[in-house]
Amino acid sequence: MSGFNEALFWNNVNKTDTCWLWTGYRNKDGYGEYKSDYLTTRLVHRISYALDKGELPNLPLDHLCRHRHCVNPDHLEAVTSKVNTRRSDVGLNSANKTHCPHGHEYTPENTLRYSGKRVCRACKNERNRQRRTKEKK
Ligand SMILES: [Zn+2]
Ligand SMILES: [Zn+2]
Repeated sequence: MSGFNEALFWNNVNKTDTCWLWTGYRNKDGYGEYKSDYLTTRLVHRISYALDKGELPNLPLDHLCRHRHCVNPDHLEAVTSKVNTRRSDVGLNSANKTHCPHGHEYTPENTLRYSGKRVCRACKNERNRQRRTKEKK
């Protein structure tokens, strides 16, 4: 990171016994931001992590302390997309299923969600079509 002034960056950090709190600008999501021509990211927790580890993983960084403006590298954990999916999807078993009982693939286009359950759009359309033909007769 040639050209990047680390001292100026740390001027904006209030190191408490636990969290290192960013005192500079924060975006609407509560993350600290620092603008520098030498860096590819503005997010201060990513900058801090990169300074500490010497590299920046191409992954979201999770705040273990839940303070979004904390830049303590010990409180940051790189999250793999696998973990992310598991955290956002409650039903692990249903998340593993890739096809409906009738063999249609659960693609984003073919998946409807009703109260947390996945419903196959192709099967639903088929049921609707059968109902309509019955009504005509
Ligand atoms: Zn923290
Ligand atoms: Zn189906």
